[in-house]
Amino acid sequence: MTHPVASPPEPVVPATLAAVRRVLGTPTGTIPLHEPEFRGREWEYVKECLDTGWVSSVGSYVDRFERDLAAVTGAKHAVATVNGTAALHICLLLAGVQPGDEVLMPSLTFIATANAVSYAQATPHLVDCEAHSLGVDAHALEAYLHEIAERRPEGTFNRRTGAPLRALVAMHVFGHACDLDALAALADRYGLVLVEDAAESLGAFYKGRHTGNAGRVAALSFNGNKVVTTGGGGAVLSNDAVLARRAKHLTTTARTPHRWSVLHDEVGYNYRLPNLNAAVGCAQLEQLDSFVRRKRRIAARYEEALAGVAGVRFLREPAYARSNYWLNALVLAPEHAVCRDELLSALNDAGYMSRPLWTPMHRLPMYAGCPRMPLPVTESMEARVVNVPSSARLAD
Ligand SMILES: *Cc1c(COP(=O)(O)O)cnc(C)c1O
Repeated sequence: MTHPVASPPEPVVPATLAAVRRVLGTPTGTIPLHEPEFRGREWEYVKECLDTGWVSSVGSYVDRFERDLAAVTGAKHAVATVNGTAALHICLLLAGVQPGDEVLMPSLTFIATANAVSYAQATPHLVDCEAHSLGVDAHALEAYLHEIAERRPEGTFNRRTGAPLRALVAMHVFGHACDLDALAALADRYGLVLVEDAAESLGAFYKGRHTGNAGRVAALSFNGNKVVTTGGGGAVLSNDAVLARRAKHLTTTARTPHRWSVLHDEVGYNYRLPNLNAAVGCAQLEQLDSFVRRKRRIAARYEEALAGVAGVRFLREPAYARSNYWLNALVLAPEHAVCRDELLSALNDAGYMSRPLWTPMHRLPMYAGCPRMPLPVTESMEARVVNVPSSARLAD
């Protein structure tokens, strides 16, 4: 007796490659993962800096960039910095992180998050992520804190190490907002200061609010590969005027204003953004809507092309979020994790620059010894996520 047999599905690697080809066409060279785009008034604003001589640490574009950032993000205050890592470092200091503290942060992040914690002489305490947003898993973290955290009048402590648990850093992976309400409530319950690493989420919203507004402070990045770039740059966001003033002070060598004397009242940092870079940033921010609109269009095309492919899904925005789709990501089904490197080879060979997730912090030599909760989702996602080309111009 014969049974009718369904034709086997096409193997996941060639099927995914074909889907990416339907979105991006057949490249002649290599399509980069993320390219900056300068089609606005960048030349005009930079030329003005050069013509007037205001290129460095003082100049009107820095002030304007800070005002524009506040307007775009809805934060009351923005302080421009030399890069996003510096902004994060200052955020942690403003959060009250002291040497010897532990800072809860995702293992699944770019190295800058953990390095900023190190610069503050604190220890990263690594936490797991959710499969759908890739952001910190509030529920898993709550269960973990219930086990290890001890609340005392003077603060919250890690029962196992005895160190203070001071802050929780949430990161919006690839521009998908993590569940900020749940994380803010959890931070509140445990007396932790919530800090947002919003480096990847300019133009991304959580329940209608721009990311970077839920915690006490947030950090943005304008590195060359981010949604908006200043070449290199960053910003601290805050809704608290006192913290914002302190951010400005700390990032400008803690200089106290005086007509002629050069006075500094503490060890500050030379973390300010040069006016030249701010000029580029002002022109870039004028195009943010266009960048995000086109990035969302490419994302929709990937999602549609991958819808019929068995064994792989497109990482779409959480229901509560409006993402900027900074980097588009494909997620292989668990049974296809073994194909990840084969898929990366096939995509890169065909001219579609692609890469896996960052190596999680707990597997890097300098952070391998850090305290951590079980990280099953982080490890599973690391084995299965592939980023594909995401520049706004791909939608043109
Ligand atoms: C880009 C980025 C930063 C900051 O990087 P800089 O290159 O210092 O501007 C911080 N955190 C995350 C998650 C990032 O992606």
